[in-house]
Amino acid sequence: MNSAATVQRRNDATLADEGAERERIANVRPVDWRNPSPMPRYDLVIVGAGTAGLVAAKAAASRGVKVALVERHLLGGTCLNIGCVPSKAILRTSRLYEEMRDADRYGACVPRDIRVDFAAAMRRVRGVRARISRADSARRLAAAGIDVFFGQARFTRTDALQVDRATLRFAKALITTGARPDTPEIPGLAEAGYLTNENAFDLTEPPRRLLVIGGGPLGCEMAQAFCRLGVRTTIVQRQPLFLPREERDAAQILSDSFARDGIEIRLNTRALDVRVDGGGKVVDLVSDDYRSTVVVDAILTGTGRVPNTDGLDLEAAGVDADPRRGVHVDDFLRTRNPRIYAAGDVCLGDKFNDTAQASALMVIENALFNGRRRLSELTVPWCTYTDPEIAHVGLYARQARERNIPVKTFTIPMHDVDRAIADDEEVGFVKISVEERSDRILGATIVARHAGEMISEITLAIVAGVGLGTLARVIHAYPTQAEAIRMAADAYVRTRGRS
Ligand SMILES: Cc1cc2nc3c(=O)[nH]c(=O)nc-3n(C[C@H](O)[C@H](O)[C@H](O)COP(=O)(O)OP(=O)(O)OC[C@H]3O[C@@H](n4cnc5c(N)ncnc54)[C@H](O)[C@@H]3O)c2cc1C
Repeated sequence: MNSAATVQRRNDATLADEGAERERIANVRPVDWRNPSPMPRYDLVIVGAGTAGLVAAKAAASRGVKVALVERHLLGGTCLNIGCVPSKAILRTSRLYEEMRDADRYGACVPRDIRVDFAAAMRRVRGVRARISRADSARRLAAAGIDVFFGQARFTRTDALQVDRATLRFAKALITTGARPDTPEIPGLAEAGYLTNENAFDLTEPPRRLLVIGGGPLGCEMAQAFCRLGVRTTIVQRQPLFLPREERDAAQILSDSFARDGIEIRLNTRALDVRVDGGGKVVDLVSDDYRSTVVVDAILTGTGRVPNTDGLDLEAAGVDADPRRGVHVDDFLRTRNPRIYAAGDVCLGDKFNDTAQASALMVIENALFNGRRRLSELTVPWCTYTDPEIAHVGLYARQARERNIPVKTFTIPMHDVDRAIADDEEVGFVKISVEERSDRILGATIVARHAGEMISEITLAIVAGVGLGTLARVIHAYPTQAEAIRMAADAYVRTRGRS
């Protein structure tokens, strides 16, 4: 291609990128937005328009409830703008690059020297974000009868809050202000500058060398994505394994996958301090007594999330909270003030999009329709979207034993599953635990390319009280990786035959 055509292509791409960002902002924070005149009193005022706030607002409005929704920044909150959506979009592109590098394994022929177009990958991320933002647009919400207010909300009384210069009075209120990245206290980090999920998706050029601090889901997903996009990546994790919540066998598979990708892994390691030297960020690390240093161009922190309770003046509302746990709620998601509820990351230990949604819907039932739905009744699956994915639902075997529930576990390695062999996706396993001498499913861990899709079957079984014996009778389309679940069920049925 001649240079004029290349420049034209680049200009077109930049314009498309700007167009995508313009579209997203027009949806989630229109510049010409005017807050409506408040009604004398709302049935429900919701503070925070991330996943939980939006789901609650739409559900309430669809049932004729007069709702006001207050957002201080962008509609869609973490998930759409700086969380699930951009992280999954970048992971998809990074996986494609990995598949191209690995193409000969599939009998495909791809040039050896694959050039990563990082800017194009990030443009795609922003395009995906713009497209999904349409569902959360301010105008759509207004058309659904929701009064949308932009501004920081602050409670002034037990039944009123202030936003902009308006006072919103309410019969019930819902706090869904979410969480933000926790910053590790590492001397020199702030001065050196660092990335979090709040700004990493705005990058247009890749750092040459990246240090990811934190080996939880966010750190692991980002480390793998950036590494596969050609960034020389190191990951440090304080604990001896990644994803400390998961069992050793699952976490070990992830370590092996990172090693294959070429990620430099530092487990049992802490970042001690950071300084800037000659354009690089120099980070001192310690593992037990062994000290070492890495020099990188960027640092990305993924060391947990803290609830957003700042500036809400919760005391005026009669709501208890603390900086770590966030807003205190009971099993019905009610705060100390019986008018006020909370949902999502601001009050839950499980900080996921799905729990934000489920808890928000629970509040609508409990606060407005005399529901008695309990948080403790939820069955929550989760997934880390690395390659392979690691998904879990229910109890881990160790948790069952701690509760004195006798456990029997059935494990099928993915290399025994025809479809996984055909797809060359043989890494991982399906492991299902049942209560001994019964087929009651206690929990499951799935490590597989599509574990996030597969875990829903087990979640359904747990919620509906369907036993593992019944799953053995369910015909699974052949060949699918989900057959591993039926194979685990078959293994259970064989043991029953022997008892
Ligand atoms: C990088 C990353 C990837 C993730 N990936 C996944 C995933 O794959 N799957 C999954 O299930 N979960 C994932 N999560 C978690 C998921 O994004 C969150 O659990 C979910 O977005 C929480 O929704 P929420 O409504 O509770 O809070 P948020 O989405 O954070 O929304 C809170 C909103 O409240 C607003 N707000 C705060 N204070 C005020 C105030 N005083 N006045 C007005 N507005 C206020 C904020 O601006 C924000 O818009 C990910 C998170 C991150 C960071």
